[in-house]
Amino acid sequence: MSLKDQQSLDFVIAGGGTAGWIAAALLARFSPPGTRVQLVESEAIGTVGVGEATIPQIHLLNNALGLDERDFLRETKATFKLGIEFDGWQREGHAYMHAFGQVGRGAGLLPFQQYWLRAQQLGLAKPLKHYSLNETAARGLKMQRGRRTPQSLEMPYAYHFDAGLYASYLRRYSELRGVTRHEGMIARVECDGESGEIAALVLDDDRRIEGRFFIDCTGFRALLIDGALEAGFDDWSNVLPCNRAMAVPCATGGDFTPYTCSIARKAGWQWRIPLQHRIGNGYVYCSDHLSDEEAAETLLANLDGKALGDPKPIKFTTGKRRKHWHRNCLALGLAAGFLEPLESTSIHLIQSAMSRFLTVLPKGAGDPAIVDHFNTQADFEWERIRDFLVLHYWANEREGDPFWDGVRNMELPATLQRKIEQWQSAGFIHREHEELFTEVGWFQVLAGQGVEARSYNPAADSLSEDELKALLADTETAISAEVRQMPDHAPFLRSYMMQNMPQ
Ligand code: FAD
Repeated sequence: MSLKDQQSLDFVIAGGGTAGWIAAALLARFSPPGTRVQLVESEAIGTVGVGEATIPQIHLLNNALGLDERDFLRETKATFKLGIEFDGWQREGHAYMHAFGQVGRGAGLLPFQQYWLRAQQLGLAKPLKHYSLNETAARGLKMQRGRRTPQSLEMPYAYHFDAGLYASYLRRYSELRGVTRHEGMIARVECDGESGEIAALVLDDDRRIEGRFFIDCTGFRALLIDGALEAGFDDWSNVLPCNRAMAVPCATGGDFTPYTCSIARKAGWQWRIPLQHRIGNGYVYCSDHLSDEEAAETLLANLDGKALGDPKPIKFTTGKRRKHWHRNCLALGLAAGFLEPLESTSIHLIQSAMSRFLTVLPKGAGDPAIVDHFNTQADFEWERIRDFLVLHYWANEREGDPFWDGVRNMELPATLQRKIEQWQSAGFIHREHEELFTEVGWFQVLAGQGVEARSYNPAADSLSEDELKALLADTETAISAEVRQMPDHAPFLRSYMMQNMPQ
């Protein structure tokens, strides 16, 4: 690309929520000199105001931007996150964790789950929590960054943070690096009659914001990708029927857990996300089975501290845009679609779409071969995450609740059906190319929700029973020893943030 061509890179971002400011920050950081980046947002409309739990891939974004971790923790009131606890999902009174990082260790050819399944048949296996460093640390409210010794096990982590503060933090970052912000209400999206491409955003005071490529970050409104370009929507309510969330933060006692809680309720589930200054709570539910009033009542009755405001209802339809990139427009964040926050994937989907986008960085609409490829990758990524979420609902034994009976009996996507059958027949789990969730993630949810594997790979029999016992016991001992010396999460976070504070 010649310098002249590079100078014509010209982006307009519509919307300044988490998606808009992540896009702005990444463009400011990675596009060549001379690129114009403008962002339009309306304070009168505001942002969705939820979205606080992340997965470890958030480090890729923060590192790419060169953010200092301590600064980030202070600015966004973040806490550390080692996994998600699913309480009551299989049945009332039962809980398991999808913890980040490894569970157990393999031996030779096979992954750990094969030895664990064999040990289960022999009556030797304990629940997975005994073989996960992250889960053991999380349940003990412990936290450690990095490895204590080169031999120590790795403990991957993510964060809970205030998404509004994160967006403000990235706004400062972006504006310092040349992004122009326009405050105002987009009244109209102007398209070129011939090409059908977007030419400008027209604000309600008649300002015209022109650009060559537009990024739709207008949230559920999807003003550009849907309103103007009608890219279509794949509705996934048949497998993810929840369509409402009632959210309210509450006061915290300051002894925050290093994990997210997801608690099954009558017609959905409740999240609990501890931040430094408050706890984020919400009830995700299906309006066919629960009224807004009942949801608010249940939520308010199940808070750790005083509610900081009135519950705020949010309506949504699960699914995704048929084309994430259409003509000269890319949809990001809620404008691209919505999967439930069950596995904290929305912010990740913003960053992964942007990282793919940066590898092609188009001047105008983009070459159709590239756009097709981008959309195929996006479809794959979204569909596999959908499958993972659907598994949580389907594999339940909560008989008698119409909502849970419905999801237990729903028809599954063929891709998920195949994965479940592979597990059931021989404990086999295969992570497909570029799929977000790893074998260990699938393993924890399949086993945690009580989906039984009828058999295991016979190669697991190559270990003698004593060797198998030693494999399990050694793993558990190493994990306990590691966790015993870890500091408590809350004091660790406070002291870590204080290091290198500007005087
Ligand atoms: P928004 O925050 O809605 O921002 C939209 C922007 O567009 C705003 O700046 C608004 O002012 C602007 N805008 C809209 N219309 C106009 C107009 N006409 N003129 C000018 N500006 C306009 N994600 C996670 O990763 N983890 C979670 O735990 C998580 N939990 C969630 C829970 C719920 C219930 C929901 C609904 C979402 C959750 N998410 C979560 C998703 C997360 O909130 C979003 O992905 C993220 O905040 C991005 O939102 P956004 O920027 O796309 O949209």
